[in-house]
Amino acid sequence: MLKPLLIILKQRLQWLRRPSLQRRFFFRVLVPPFVIMLLLGIAGFWQLDGAARQSAANDLRRASVTTAAKLEREFALRETILKTTGNELFAIKSKYQGERQQLASDRTACAAFVQKNSNFSQAPNNVCRSFAWQLAAGGQQQVLVKAYEEQLVELATRERETVRERLDAFVEAFPETINLIITDETKVISQASSNADQAPEIVAELTKIAAEGLKTPIEGRVASGDKRQLVFAYPISNGAVLASYNIDHSNFLRQSWLETPIDQAKGYTVIAATNGAVSYPKLDNNSLYQPAIAAKDSAGLSVFWAGGVQYLSVVEPIGASGWVVVVGMPAVTALATVTMVQLAAVGLLGLLLVSFLWVGALFVHRTIRSILVLVSGSLVFANGNLAYRINTAQMGDGEFEGLANVMNSMAGRIQEAEKEIEQKNKEFISIATHEIKAPMTAIIGNLSMVLEDGMGQQDDQARLLTGQAYAGTLRLRDLVNELLDIARLESGKATYNLTRINVDKEIQAMVELQKVPAQEKTVTIDYQLPNALPAVIADKTKLEIILTNFISNAIKYNRSPGMVVITCEVDGNFVKTAISDTGLGIPPEQQASMFQKFFRVEAEDRRGIPGTGLGMYVTKLFIEAMGGKLWFESEPGKGTTFYFTLPIATK
Ligand code: ADP
Repeated sequence: MLKPLLIILKQRLQWLRRPSLQRRFFFRVLVPPFVIMLLLGIAGFWQLDGAARQSAANDLRRASVTTAAKLEREFALRETILKTTGNELFAIKSKYQGERQQLASDRTACAAFVQKNSNFSQAPNNVCRSFAWQLAAGGQQQVLVKAYEEQLVELATRERETVRERLDAFVEAFPETINLIITDETKVISQASSNADQAPEIVAELTKIAAEGLKTPIEGRVASGDKRQLVFAYPISNGAVLASYNIDHSNFLRQSWLETPIDQAKGYTVIAATNGAVSYPKLDNNSLYQPAIAAKDSAGLSVFWAGGVQYLSVVEPIGASGWVVVVGMPAVTALATVTMVQLAAVGLLGLLLVSFLWVGALFVHRTIRSILVLVSGSLVFANGNLAYRINTAQMGDGEFEGLANVMNSMAGRIQEAEKEIEQKNKEFISIATHEIKAPMTAIIGNLSMVLEDGMGQQDDQARLLTGQAYAGTLRLRDLVNELLDIARLESGKATYNLTRINVDKEIQAMVELQKVPAQEKTVTIDYQLPNALPAVIADKTKLEIILTNFISNAIKYNRSPGMVVITCEVDGNFVKTAISDTGLGIPPEQQASMFQKFFRVEAEDRRGIPGTGLGMYVTKLFIEAMGGKLWFESEPGKGTTFYFTLPIATK
């Protein structure tokens, strides 16, 4: 499973490493815009994320500021009304207290007067006068007491009614008030509670808080007890006023909380004391607002984790009350819309990139396909199949189609030219064979007869000339034969009659034929051939030409006296033959041209040596056509060794 994948991956990587048009196109045309688009996408992604967080922070801030401002107004209103009510009640209480004192002193004065005077018309006041009249009419001592007591009751009733009226007005403004306490410098002078069961210890605590309120305003202090009471206490003219509310059922808190412009299903609002100890609504999980308060007491977005969820939250103080509004939201919810947009953008970008790559790859593929067709077509031409035509059907692009057409027509023209050359070659071969070879054979025959039969009838001069004519004609014949061989070889007309041949026997025979020229040049030919040399597969005539060329050159370019040594050995599947001489050698700078057509070494030491420069060329063609190789080693002035191999016959 893994192995084929690895192989495919390796192939892909190799393809990327190979310098090719496809690779260049891929890296220079496709990759740069791809990378740029990708980077832009990532940058956009970040930007969008930052913007989303900013926008979420703005929403949260707006919500918290709205609620905080509302509560601040509410607190201020509460202070005003509470202080007014406190002052009024204080005044009412003080007034009635004064009136009560007055009544008590009136009563004392009246009693004293009645005991001393009988002139009632001079009574200090109406009550006293009426009392005196009643007394005169025969009433008793108790009447005096009763009249004053009635007066006192009436005063108390009036006081209660006035206070009640004032309290009713207050409660109408703040219906959820649980306690209202007014103190003077030392003691409670008025206390109203909407809850008859109010625990005495709470009342005691509230009274203490009210006393504190003599010095500094208190807003949002929470009184202890299981019923958490939110306390407001302010100094008034001659004392302090305190109101308390059930924090959990306080309308103004609840109302402000509800009106926070944030979807409570997605986020949350908490109105809390700065120390984080209490909150509305009461939360079991303080971790939703305490970290935010701890991180930032005002302004700025705080990001924290609670229960594995990331939250974004802002904290806004409610005036100088020591309370804050915390508005928060899980980051996932806050960024949900943006995440959707981001996902859509990622999808779109991905789609764009994929289509970009796809279109690019398609374009590359089509271009490369056309180029590959052209390349493979030219390879077919290069291999000699000029009848082949490049298929232009699948080349959509005009340029490539045009190039293919040009290559096709070039191949056609070369094919025609080849045919023409072939035709001319054929003509040359037939002319050479019939028109040159035939008369030359006759000349050679005649000259040899003249040389052999007519020796006695010729003088020395005539014999020399005839001999020279004979030798020259032989050379001419060899030249014509070599040219014909080349013509046949190059036109592909050379035929090879491959048979099993013993190279050693051929060497012996060819050395035999070269004996005369060797003797003339005082060159000794020696051959060392192994006993059981395997037969090779070769054309006999061609092998004879090859051996003759090597041996005759070894004699021709030798010194007098000189040596030629021929050896044979098995080399793998081949028989390797080496022909060494002690001759002139081949200058190193000319060795590379050795097997070229018409090449002859340019050197002073071989000026007069006749030759055509075709022997080695033909030899190479023959050896290679029969599946062998040839090479040489040479040192100028010391000698040359030519090597050639021929395949061992398998059957
Ligand atoms: P040529 O007809 O001139 O001998 P060849 O093709 O047979 O033509 O040889 C090409 C050239 O290589 C020769 O002109 C000769 O100078 C050089 N050559 C060939 N064989 C030998 C050799 N055995 N020693 C030195 N030179 C050689």
